[in-house]
Amino acid sequence: MSEKHFRLYDSLSRQVKPLTTLEPGHLRFYSCGPTVYSYAHIGNFRSFITADLIVRTALSLGWKVTWVSNITDVGHLTEDDVADAQGEDKMEKALRSKEGEQFHNVWELAEFYEDAYRDDWKQLNLLEPDVRPKATQHVREQILAAEELIAKGFAYETESGIYFSVDKFPEYGKLSGNTQENLRKAVRDVVLDEEKKDQSDFAIWKKDDKHLMQWFSPYGWGFPGWHIECSVMARAYLGDTIDLHSGGEDNKFPHHECEIAQSEALTGKPFSNHWTHTAFLQVNGQKMAKSAGNFYTVRGLVADGANPLAIRFALIGGVYRKPFNFTDQGLNDAATNLERFRRAVDVALAADGAGEDSLGEELGGLFEDALEAMCSDLNTPVAIAKALEGARLITREGTLNAATGASAKSFLEKVELLLGIIGPLEVAEEPNHCLPAVDEARILGQIEARKAAKAAKNWGEADAIRNALLAEGIVLTDNADGTVGWSRA
Ligand code: AMP
Ligand code: ZN
Repeated sequence: MSEKHFRLYDSLSRQVKPLTTLEPGHLRFYSCGPTVYSYAHIGNFRSFITADLIVRTALSLGWKVTWVSNITDVGHLTEDDVADAQGEDKMEKALRSKEGEQFHNVWELAEFYEDAYRDDWKQLNLLEPDVRPKATQHVREQILAAEELIAKGFAYETESGIYFSVDKFPEYGKLSGNTQENLRKAVRDVVLDEEKKDQSDFAIWKKDDKHLMQWFSPYGWGFPGWHIECSVMARAYLGDTIDLHSGGEDNKFPHHECEIAQSEALTGKPFSNHWTHTAFLQVNGQKMAKSAGNFYTVRGLVADGANPLAIRFALIGGVYRKPFNFTDQGLNDAATNLERFRRAVDVALAADGAGEDSLGEELGGLFEDALEAMCSDLNTPVAIAKALEGARLITREGTLNAATGASAKSFLEKVELLLGIIGPLEVAEEPNHCLPAVDEARILGQIEARKAAKAAKNWGEADAIRNALLAEGIVLTDNADGTVGWSRA
């Protein structure tokens, strides 16, 4: 195991501190997953990739990791930031939408988007969590938790549901930094249930026999509140106190604040020793969000020609704690850098012949620098820069002897485990596998220029344009009317 300390900002103590584990060398980690009522967008994936990078760094340090990442497949409400949980069920709303027409019921809809999420996850080269529990698989534990919280005096029943009494948990607000008073102001002024003791008391169970997803409980038909699923699933798989919990910055309040209150009320022990939150991915300075309609999906970008590894590369180009703008330029730069790594892989794999290892020491130092950067609160820009420096050293020579090639391969394997931005260390089976995203607008511009050249009977120039594109792997399709399309060679 490495001697390095893994330092990570902790949202609870509001400082960068060493990530410690209760069991030496074994990280027990819970990261919040998506609600599967539509495709996850790349903003969601920015948060998931932070979790993936934490796991990759821990594994690179030689730690054992148990990683649990949930799937929220219970329809929570469109206004679930309100303590009362008002609004429409997101799943029901999605079922009634245009895209929802293809599904027969909300269960099918949830399954479809869960599969899509898992596919996108693989495409972006995230490691597979040890457990992906689903909220619907743990309704029993959620009901039991509600009963236990009532028995312990932390929760109470009203006409509309079971509510957690925030007054009973004086530390409520410790994560988001809100005082009780502010929290009351933070929740919207809608108290539909007159029986609620305090407007900031939040729902653990909603009674509703009309809801499309409903279960029977000691309180009749209904469905669980959003926060309770993560409290019970973290406990079921990782124990009463976990080492680390993560999510996007909007999860801090109310989701994680409420998880802490429920879990600590249930066990009397700290829920998580460390909390990590990823800042929002933005588009033109705005949070990328499904509700704002300004979002990109992995499959959408791939359909436009982006390489999924380049998308991942672009997403980790900024440090996770700062908002990050996703741009076409960023994606193109990432594709170019990805190609640099792929060239290094080709050189490393083609290495042959006798000779001394001329790069091992330098590459070893660069990898240690990259790992050190990741141990410094996931400094991805520095880690990437060090890894690219190594790739440049490898490709600079053109050909390597076997000993140097082995060091180069080992360096690239370690970088791949740490950052996941290289892909498999094998010669690509499909020739296009790792080509960078093409700039379609530029190709169309070239096609237009060639048309103009032909119209001017400037055949030499027309051929030169065609050949230049061919050299980049772009083939033009011509017919009697001229160029009608293009494809990759
Ligand atoms: P949801 O499906 O809405 O529960 O979101 C899944 C995860 O993505 C949560 O951890 C959110 O905090 C996170 N998230 C949502 N939007 C963004 C964004 N624009 N940038 C980064 N993380 C996000
Ligand atoms: Zn959660």
